[in-house]
Amino acid sequence: MNILVTGAAGYIGSIVVQELIKERHSVVALDNLKHGHREAVSPEAPFIQAEIGGAERLGQVFKDNKLEAVAHLAAEVQVEESMSAPEKYFRTNLICGMNLLDTMLRYNVNKLVFSSTAAVYGNPDSIPIEESHPTMPINPYGESKLMFEKVLDWYGYAYGLKFISLRYFNAAGASDRLGEDHDPETHLIPNVLKVALGQCQHVVVFGTDHPTSDGTCIRDYIHVSDIARAHILALKHLERSQANKAYNLGNGRGYSVFEVIETARKVTGISIPVVNRPRRPGDPPVLVASSELAKSELGWEPEYRELETIIDSAWRWQKEHTHGYRE
Ligand code: UDP
Repeated sequence: MNILVTGAAGYIGSIVVQELIKERHSVVALDNLKHGHREAVSPEAPFIQAEIGGAERLGQVFKDNKLEAVAHLAAEVQVEESMSAPEKYFRTNLICGMNLLDTMLRYNVNKLVFSSTAAVYGNPDSIPIEESHPTMPINPYGESKLMFEKVLDWYGYAYGLKFISLRYFNAAGASDRLGEDHDPETHLIPNVLKVALGQCQHVVVFGTDHPTSDGTCIRDYIHVSDIARAHILALKHLERSQANKAYNLGNGRGYSVFEVIETARKVTGISIPVVNRPRRPGDPPVLVASSELAKSELGWEPEYRELETIIDSAWRWQKEHTHGYRE
């Protein structure tokens, strides 16, 4: 297939591009490079620097390329920032996303894999979380992704759009060439590894009074290459059926912030000092996925089952790219 990947220079998008190319798909890579890195985009994919909200330019991209499907990963993704700047999240993730949808339909492209999130669930009342669990986001990031999911439902009904939303839990780890490099870095594992590299003095732990066994938040860490492979399976699924639903992507096991730090100490062999701070606004205490639906319907099976191997892959990449893509 000829596939447009938005957010193609980002952490997950760049690895989706890499996996699609490995599977012999043609890829057009699009990113505004606000957060992404040009160097992260596989050289086989033609690269276009553009906004998903720019109707004219985006239309030209569809006109110039015989696209058959879109993997839409371009987004604003920081939970804490979304609490103080919600407009940025609704504008990019919802309004600009709708421009992408409308452009797709204008050029008769009706297959979409959408990068959604566990944040759509809010504070879950049962663990592991199944897709049928009520969605009640507690931050604008999750809300903006859920609103877009709802737009997809109605576009499916009204215009025959075929889509799959992939609700990622905590993406982590690195492939051989590509890894996580955000500025500022807000995610736990890269922040922990920065301390191991000696680039920061300590890890700040946000909240030790959550209703969990050690008081820190519990998350389900899933390797970024496993997430990328799910996109390929989702695209295949869209070719043979009218899917139009959401699938969780997680390992089904939760680790607390303290457990992540302890595992990183084991992997790196370096003592990693911590400083405890108050809770970060918008953080649900526990998010752990049931991914049974993705397994049974998409044929997805995560290859990286252990937190240790996930952190090990991130550590290898971070040691070779001590300043991310800037070197
Ligand atoms: N966290 C932390 N220190 C950090 C970064 C994150 O204690 O430097 C915590 C955060 O509060 C959350 C968990 O680690 O409970 C995972 O956060 P991350 O930002 O990696 O992913 P999120 O679950 O927010 O998408």
